[in-house]
Amino acid sequence: MSDCLFCKIITGDIPADIVYQDDKILVFKDINPKADVHLLMIPKAHIKSLTELNTSYNDLIAYMMLKLPELANDQGLSGGFRTIINTGSEGGQEVFHLHIHLLGGKNLPGF
Ligand code: 5GP
Ligand code: ZN
Repeated sequence: MSDCLFCKIITGDIPADIVYQDDKILVFKDINPKADVHLLMIPKAHIKSLTELNTSYNDLIAYMMLKLPELANDQGLSGGFRTIINTGSEGGQEVFHLHIHLLGGKNLPGF
């Protein structure tokens, strides 16, 4: 876990542009944004990916899902937004701490 980039962002050992945090989640700007708005939402618990989830995380996952539209709205994305979760190396996951990409704005790339 100590080698995890996003855990280091949670502890403050690596700086990030933090948009929101509470006891369960942290939301910060992606360092290499693919759209006008590109945020990453992570759980503060180190969970590697979707494949590591089980029912003990039901409340946390529901909490994250419900927070997304609220964050999007705060970012001015009242017209809509895109969420992406890359899972595993063959799914394009590069950082193995579960994260949800939240993208939006005029320069939203095609899917
Ligand atoms: P993945 O490909 O794992 O779904 O996405 C990882 C994301 O993390 C990428 O979009 C990448 O730009 C972002 N990222 C990688 N390193 C850092 C970092 O040190 N700080 C921030 N803010 N984002 C990062
Ligand atoms: Zn981690």
